Amino acid sequence: MTRRPLQALTFDLDDTLWDNQGVMALTEEGHYAWLDESLAAWLATRGESMLGQFAERLPLEAYQQRRRELAERHPLRRGNFTWIREQALCGLLEEFGLPRSAARLWSLAAMERFHDLRLGVSPYPEVTTMLDALGRRYRLASITNGNLALRRLALSRHFEVSIAAGEMHAPKPDPRCFLMTLARLGTTPERAMHIGDSWQEDILPALRLGMQAAWIAGDAPHGEALPAGVHRLTHIRELPALLERLGE
Ligand SMILES: [Mg+2]
Repeated sequence: MTRRPLQALTFDLDDTLWDNQGVMALTEEGHYAWLDESLAAWLATRGESMLGQFAERLPLEAYQQRRRELAERHPLRRGNFTWIREQALCGLLEEFGLPRSAARLWSLAAMERFHDLRLGVSPYPEVTTMLDALGRRYRLASITNGNLALRRLALSRHFEVSIAAGEMHAPKPDPRCFLMTLARLGTTPERAMHIGDSWQEDILPALRLGMQAAWIAGDAPHGEALPAGVHRLTHIRELPALLERLGE
């Protein structure tokens, strides 16, 4: 039986279309430091400095610990990082001594800052031209577990469908986010390829559904032969050549 040609490509975002690590570290530290400074200034103008310095009493590690606890206590929401962060910040601010209403406002403001910093990602230089060309041939979608405000990035224009899987309580490797994406693109698993860097969250679920998969493996060691339908790439820029080799 000859395989029918691909109709759709679905892309992971973080560490597939850009290097996420540096931006994430800056974002993590940056929004917490912003909260610490802005809150201190606000308290000073109100003559309430006796509460002390927020991040001295509740350092970044306390925030990270609180997020882990929340994710454990709310397994359904474990992939909804924005919710977890907001709840954690609000709880810490109350513990610090703010009334609930102020804690809520400050946690929302800190998350605004978080999203601004998070948008500092730089797609690899080849990505825009590549998506432009692929978009003329295939229907394109993105599926991320991350909480990046994708709509605010110019890159989002390439994707007909963009799924924030964590926020729909079905983070990858849950097959539902893939199935929903394919349904919205009006195609079937065997006529789609998923492209991502995580073996567990991108490649395995795509394979189980019967999609083709391109694994952005970077310099991961070469182990046993890959299952049929999985193609190994070092970098996203190699995708067009792969599609050509496959006769797509
Ligand atoms: Mg990724």
